[in-house]
Amino acid sequence: SKAKLFDEKTDVKTTFKDVAGLEGAKEEIQEIVEFLKNPEKYTNLGGKIPKGALLVGPPGTGKTLLAKAVAGEAQVPFFSLSGSDFVEMFVGVGASRVRDLFKQAKEKSPSIIFIDEIDAVGRARGKNNISGGNDERENTLNQLLTEMDGFGSNSNVIVLAATNRADVLDKALMRAGRFDRQIFVDLPDVRERAEIFKVHLAPLKKVEGLDLDFLAKQTPGFSGADIANVCNEAALIAARNNKTAVDKQDFLDAVDRIVGGLEKKNKIIT
Ligand code: ATP
Repeated sequence: SKAKLFDEKTDVKTTFKDVAGLEGAKEEIQEIVEFLKNPEKYTNLGGKIPKGALLVGPPGTGKTLLAKAVAGEAQVPFFSLSGSDFVEMFVGVGASRVRDLFKQAKEKSPSIIFIDEIDAVGRARGKNNISGGNDERENTLNQLLTEMDGFGSNSNVIVLAATNRADVLDKALMRAGRFDRQIFVDLPDVRERAEIFKVHLAPLKKVEGLDLDFLAKQTPGFSGADIANVCNEAALIAARNNKTAVDKQDFLDAVDRIVGGLEKKNKIIT
């Protein structure tokens, strides 16, 4: 059986409204939405649409969410895969899967390819390889570079890739005409955390008058993913205590639990 390499979504509902904070990153990536919505507007004047952008930042800060929102805003198909999936592949398969992916994305263009954890495949070549450039990961990386160079600027496929280790990436990936733009996606500050709470509190049945700023102040260093976790955990804690609405104490208990989990680097399952 053929392992599934990439995921294709044609009707993405995620938009910038789902991405709290990250104003700078949203502003920068808005340009890519414009290119995808109306490529001719740019190419008619002789401009070349960028082929790729790298989303750089710590885990759980919304890189995947932001990439998906670009597809939702532009109403284009979203092809996604994880760099670590390549690494698990059998010899010779990684490169052909990359070809496959680009072929399909081109057929459905304008479209987005999103590569999560690109560092798994995009680490600098020849570092752990004394025999010199003949391993599967390098073949896959070379194929990725070939594909990005090969499709013309009018193919209307934009490749977004995420990493928290831009420093280990092969410099060839960052060359002009490849991932030549970097967009930073940082941990949220206290104001942004309040906005992220607002998004993830919305679907919960909760008491009136919960103070977002208070919650934001209780969660220094939390990522958006951690905050989403807190909100879900708070609802479970409230339910376990047979409450009909999630209250402030449930959130504080959830924060404690997440902090405990972060300290142990090991999530507690109840
Ligand atoms: P990783 O590097 O671990 O892949 P990531 O940066 O891609 O992480 P996401 O997968 O986008 O992070 O975030 C995980 C979840 O956390 C999202 O689906 C969302 O629920 C929540 N989240 C993260 N950042 C935000 C944000 N800025 N606004 C709202 N929700 C967020």
